[in-house]
Amino acid sequence: MLIVMKPDASASEIERVLETVESLGLRGHTLPGENRTAIGITGNRGSLDPAHFENLPGVADAIRVTKPYKLISNDLRPERSVVSIGTGKIGDGSLAMIAGPCAVESPEQVFDAAKAVAASGAKFFRGGAFKPRTSPYNFQGMGEDGLKILAEVREQLGLNIVTEAMDEHGIDLVEKYGDCIQIGARNMQNFSLLKRAGRAKIPVLLKRGLSATLDELLLAAEYVMAEGNYDVILCERGIRTFADHARNTLDISVVPAIRRLSHLPVIIDPSHASGHNYMVGPLARAAVAVGVDGLIIEVHPRPEQALCDGAQALTPEQYTELALRLMLLHEAVAEPLATASV
Ligand code: PEP
Ligand code: MN
Repeated sequence: MLIVMKPDASASEIERVLETVESLGLRGHTLPGENRTAIGITGNRGSLDPAHFENLPGVADAIRVTKPYKLISNDLRPERSVVSIGTGKIGDGSLAMIAGPCAVESPEQVFDAAKAVAASGAKFFRGGAFKPRTSPYNFQGMGEDGLKILAEVREQLGLNIVTEAMDEHGIDLVEKYGDCIQIGARNMQNFSLLKRAGRAKIPVLLKRGLSATLDELLLAAEYVMAEGNYDVILCERGIRTFADHARNTLDISVVPAIRRLSHLPVIIDPSHASGHNYMVGPLARAAVAVGVDGLIIEVHPRPEQALCDGAQALTPEQYTELALRLMLLHEAVAEPLATASV
């Protein structure tokens, strides 16, 4: 059920609705919007009777939700959400750039990439300390030592850190050292991880699973939000198809499909979508044209020596040039936004 408050509803009227929700053993999620506040209700197994709410003071409407998701939905928040990661914002109409190596390998490697990323104007730095590798014999990441290097990057260069957690203990560590928890494609349906991320104090960058449908992606985001963390960014990173000329197939149509249903910010990862250095630029430009809120791009100072995903990494020089072109393109194609802060 979705409770839409009147535009002039007072804080105590909102509180009264929340108390009524709690008295039914359910949970209310308050999402203030530009013109009105909406309250999503979760925890009910069957359908709820609108009569519990529709006559409470300040309530404009009590609507039964027929879709499988509630909190990610445009019905709950008609304006697009803006998510703050540290000192930067995603979804505010600017083009957010999240760039850095696939994996943290050494302080030197990380700083060489980070200096170029910062100089190009990006506000966000990526790099995995916990790597989900297909083979157990491949480099698995530096763990907490890697996170400490990322924290140093934040300290020295002012970049906000986006980094992956693969288990619940990893989330504790990312909360300690980073600014945003990346949930990787392989863990998009790791429900206990999603629930833990939903109790985290920092935002979640949720990557689409290797063969996840749009509904599955949105329901994974719903898992996080249902626990009370409304700061979720969705990421299309390519899906498995029969095509084998690229590592994955970038599903660009998912961006307008998400916009139609959800208020959450959407970004694209052209690096994992393609797997090839030469494809990253063209796909990044297509992503900007389709209207994403940002991009996550792999950059390595010496791609030929990378311990992970070197074939798709851009050099700092390539990244710097691409970032400049993307900003110009974004200026030319960006649509004006109606946004609201989460
Ligand atoms: C990554 O971002 O380095 C990564 C492993 O991505 P994905 O989960 O999309 O494969
Ligand atoms: Mn990678």
